[in-house]
This record gives sequence, structure tokens and C-alpha cells, in this order.
Amino acid sequence: MINPVRVRFAPSPTGGLHLGGVRTVLFNYLFAKKHGGTFVLRIEDTDQTRFVEGAEAYIFDCLDWTGLTPDESPLRPGDYPPYRQSERKPMYRQYADQLIAQGNAYYAFDTSEELEAMRNNLKTPENPSPQYDHKTRKQMRNSLTLPEAEVEALINAGTPYVVRIKMPENETVHFHDLIRGDISHETNVVDDKVLLKSDGMPTYHLAVVVDDYLMNITHAFRGEEWLPSAPVHIMLYKYLGWEAEMPKWAHLPLILKPDGNGKLSKRDGDRLGFPVFAMDWADPKTGETTKGFKEIGFLPEAFINMLAMLGWSSGTEQEIFSLEQLEQLFSIERVNKGGAKFDYEKAKWFNQQHIQRADNSRLAILVKPFMEAAGIAIDDLSKLDQVIGMVKERCHLLGDFVQQAGFFFKAPEILDIDAIKGKWNEDKTKVMTEWVASLDNIAWEHDVLEQSLTDIAAAHNVKKGEVMMPLRVMLVGGKFGPGVFDIALFIGKEAIQARVKSSLAALA
Ligand code: GLU
Repeated sequence: MINPVRVRFAPSPTGGLHLGGVRTVLFNYLFAKKHGGTFVLRIEDTDQTRFVEGAEAYIFDCLDWTGLTPDESPLRPGDYPPYRQSERKPMYRQYADQLIAQGNAYYAFDTSEELEAMRNNLKTPENPSPQYDHKTRKQMRNSLTLPEAEVEALINAGTPYVVRIKMPENETVHFHDLIRGDISHETNVVDDKVLLKSDGMPTYHLAVVVDDYLMNITHAFRGEEWLPSAPVHIMLYKYLGWEAEMPKWAHLPLILKPDGNGKLSKRDGDRLGFPVFAMDWADPKTGETTKGFKEIGFLPEAFINMLAMLGWSSGTEQEIFSLEQLEQLFSIERVNKGGAKFDYEKAKWFNQQHIQRADNSRLAILVKPFMEAAGIAIDDLSKLDQVIGMVKERCHLLGDFVQQAGFFFKAPEILDIDAIKGKWNEDKTKVMTEWVASLDNIAWEHDVLEQSLTDIAAAHNVKKGEVMMPLRVMLVGGKFGPGVFDIALFIGKEAIQARVKSSLAALA
């Protein structure tokens, strides 16, 4: 292949991985697979003030869980190391120097007080936050306004400075977006972004362009929030003479709040009671842990399927896809322009659908910790495996198995006795007492248990139907669960006798 596809996910390791971030990973990954290309993970950690302990390792954990493993990353370097921008620091300055030499960038010596004064002095009701741009730069202390000798003296004296791009005046920057089509921006409304900071680190804007170029990235897919930065990046490709190598762009639609009103945030999740991060994120600064999709009980394949459908469609009615199917079908052109509303109920439906399709023995391993956290010991995984098949249809989250199947292993803590009480009578007590006693002497088979209850009930002029629901409540705690004699067979004589006995005591 002449120009093999190389895509990248370039997160800044600053906290929990938002589901929008995982969707960006997914679309990159699927595109790479579809085209036999390479998926690169590059850590964008040039902003040292935003460094968060553990955030990078957390990203790797999320990728492991989802199975969206990068082909090249800091942990698995390919031909373009290093894969962390902080380790690439020495690579960037030469490009900033080149831009300055060409007159496309300049030194700016303004202190933060001077910048603030500029913003205050120039602010008007029409322009409440003036930027450092083609107009205001003329009033600031930079190498465009100061005499050359003074600039040299300032630099030699070690005066802190940043390097800014000199955005051209009265130009229109055009580019093609694979999702949005042709896009244009007027350069006059774009500010002179900082490219190199006073600590010598590049900003995102310089680093992303240099790295995408040096790492031979062919397609850059990123969130829609980066669209306003695109003209800066396009100008940098132009100024650095790399236009022919510029990646093809696609700005992915936002994931919106359930009511469609703005971007979905972690706060919305907290407020509405659903996760927004892929996995639990323990913030080292606040000590707070935010719940993730994994820990709330999602299967990774369901999470992936749900994310794929947030913004992409196959063009058919089909909604359930495996990762392998998505790898075959994905096309970036089928990603919608408009934002995609997040719907937690729908997300849980995807999970329920994938739970139906998952292997019971695998589910048993995943469900065990949920059972144990609820105080239900699982000594024999094969037993859990057995009951999972009976109840999985009713489970939307892995944690739902606790309610739907916990009673197979432990007497229910809550008994919905009110469901039985109203129509209970002495005859029914006799039926239940005799039936549990009969269990000592009968064959341990579904139909035998059932027949025995029918016969004993008939002997007391009670219809079997009248004691079936009460028996269910006694065994499982409420009006739910699979076939009552299947439950009885599984939990065994002693457990049945004990549960019926304590229920009768509660009814007395
Ligand atoms: N570091 C940027 C972020 O965290 C990456 C944007 C891009 O992919 O260009 O979103």
C-alpha cells in the first residue's frame, strides 16, 4: 500500500475517560481495522499544570477493558517514538524557530498582568473578551512591535516569552471534513494562539501538528469541540510546507445530554444517576470516585455497540453489532453531523441484548463479584453458570443478577409478605406445611414436586394456583424469578423447608 492508514487517539491524561472519548477511540480503531491500518495512541501531556497522577494508566485500563487495543502506544512503541508528548519536547522548538524565521510566528513578552490589562482596556459590550489577534498584537510587547535589538536583548537576558502564530489578515481558510464537508473559517476572527510556552513546552496546537506529521498520521478524527482550532492547524501545515501530508480531518459530533440541551457532562451523570466515564475514576485531588460503565455492570461489547450507535448508523434497521461486524461495516462518512442524545435506558437495553448473547460461563465470572459485594457467597461457579441461563433475559446490568438470581444461593432478606397476606388462610398453611414435609420422601424431580403440591392442595380444597404465587414469594422474596419448581429443585430441600417455615411464621 502506498499510503497505509494511520489514525491516532490523542488524549490528555487529566481525569476520567468520558464516553465521548471512548467513542473517539472506537471510531479511530474501526477505521484502522476497516482499512488494514494502524491505530496509534499518543499521550498529549504538554500541559504540566494539568498533570493528574494515575490518569495515563487509567486510560490504558479503559482500552484493555473495551478491547480497543492500540497498535502503537507508549507501552508498545512502533516506528515513531516516543509516544508521550512530554518526552518529545526537544522535537518541537525547531519548528517554532522555522515559523519565526519565516515571519509566520513571533516572540511575545507580555506578562500576565499586561495581558489582563489589554483585555480590560479593550473590552466593549460588543467584544467582552478581546483576544490577542491581528488587531491587538500591534499594541503588545512582541517581536512584531519591538525593535530587533530589544527583542534580542530581552531574550539574552532570559526574559520569559511565548511564541505565537501570526494569523494572516483577511484570508479564508478552507478544508474538507469527512463528516461535515467543506468548511471555511475567516482568519480575522482567529486569535494568535500560543505555540510554544515559556517553559519551552509546545502547546497542543503546535504539538498536534508536528506529531501528526512526524508520525505519518493520515486521518485525524477528534471531537467537534476542536473545530474552532482547525484553522490554526491548517495554517501551520501550510507554513511548515506540509500541506500535501496533512491528515484528512473528521470532527465527530458531540454526545448530548438526554434532553439534547448541550454536551453531556460528568455533572449530568451525577445529577441523573448514570455513569459518564468508561470505568470508575478515583480523582486523586478530591479523593472522590466517579462510577464507570464497567463497574455499574456493562459488558464491554455492549458499551462499544451503544457508543457506535451514538452518531453512526449502518443504514439498516439493525442495532446490535459485535465489534467484528462493526470493523467490517464502519465508514466515517456514515457518522452524523448532528449531536447524538445520550439515552441511558437505551444504553441498558444494549447491555441486556448483549447479556442474552454472552456465554453463561463468562457471565458467571463477571457476576460473581456483584454477588459477593451483596454478601452472597458463590462457592461453585458452575452453579452460578447454571442459574444465569434461567434469569439473564431479565437482566439489564450485571448487578441485576443479584436480585434475579441471588435467592438461588441465599435466603431473601426482604420478603414481600404483603403480596400473600390478604388471601392467606389456615388451609393454605396446612398445604404448605404438608408439602414441605413430603419433600423428605419424594423423588427430586420437577414434575414430582409439582404433582405433590397439586395433590396436597386438592386434599385441602385449595387450588394449586392459589399457592403457587405464595410459594414463589416464600422462596425468592417477591413475585419474580424463573419457574418456581426449577428454583425449588435448585435450592434443595433444606432451603425450601427453612424459607417456607420462616414465611409461615411471618404470616401467622
Ligand atoms: N489532546 C486533545 C484532547 O485531549 C486531542 C485532540 C485531537 O485529537 O487533536 O482532546
